[in-house]
Amino acid sequence: MTTDNRFAAIEAGGTKVLCAIAGGDGAILAQCRIATRSPEETFADIDQFFGAGIAEFGPLRAGGIGSFGPLDLDPTSSDYGSIITTPKPGWSSVDILGRMVGILGVPTAIDTDVNCAAIAEARHGAGRDVDRLCYVTVGTGIGVGVADHGVASGGAANVEAGHSRVPRARDDEAFAGICSYHADCLEGLASGPALKARWGAGAESLDPGHEAWAREAHYIACLCVNLSYTLRPQRIILGGGVLAQTGLYAQVRAAYVDLLAGYALDAWNADAARFICAPTLVDPSPGLTGAIDLARDLYAAR
Ligand code: ADP
Ligand code: ZN
Repeated sequence: MTTDNRFAAIEAGGTKVLCAIAGGDGAILAQCRIATRSPEETFADIDQFFGAGIAEFGPLRAGGIGSFGPLDLDPTSSDYGSIITTPKPGWSSVDILGRMVGILGVPTAIDTDVNCAAIAEARHGAGRDVDRLCYVTVGTGIGVGVADHGVASGGAANVEAGHSRVPRARDDEAFAGICSYHADCLEGLASGPALKARWGAGAESLDPGHEAWAREAHYIACLCVNLSYTLRPQRIILGGGVLAQTGLYAQVRAAYVDLLAGYALDAWNADAARFICAPTLVDPSPGLTGAIDLARDLYAAR
């Protein structure tokens, strides 16, 4: 692959869409951040960015998309690459892959934002020394991506562990939870908006000593235990806006060790400080980096 190749990528999130044009080595040549509004307004801005980018940097080889979901990722489905029903107004059934192919005019690959983040951390970041890792985002929603040997695992059946059931933290029974499907699933209890609903203030304004964080750590640790016992990852990388509360890492590790209670320890999860860690990719984000990787993989496999 020569460095003259050009690739396009987006990471589509609930609050922002990151767009980039990268060279053949994956290095970013241009990028922008667009606020996620209605599909029409959002795609108009995406179109403008890539139109200008193609004019400046030349024609593209392939595109990559990491998107919020849930997505239809069944390649045999007529809705492949579409967002399925989402509580996000206006975005249910939007054919994000089709819209991006229309904008970019080249073959384009799609996966979840968290699977993209997982492959990027596996290839270039905090998971280079492991075969299987989970990437967990705790932000507007809670999502889990899985990478095996640097490739996203799951295909059509990507993991939806953000909506798994977890036991309530002590003294947290009164809060109903905010998931529009399940009320008190993990996302309903522990996402950023759940923290805001629970405590009456945005998660970013809760000070590090606030009782919210011990409960939050319990919920994230429950997810880490469940992932440990089901998928047996060798590392769990915790990212997303809520983890900007960096004291959470130590609290989650401590709660995780307590909850495991010594059962099924292995060479990886026995060392919680290495097993549960922060992403090492920051700018560009893990999700955008992984979307660029998808585009480069697609071109390499042509
Ligand atoms: P998205 O999920 O849309 O990609 P983020 O991962 O940035 O976005 O997550 C947004 C959430 O992170 C919001 O609910 C916000 O309250 C929370 N958040 C942002 N900054 C902080 C912070 N410093 N501490 C705790 N929570 C934060
Ligand atoms: Zn749910």
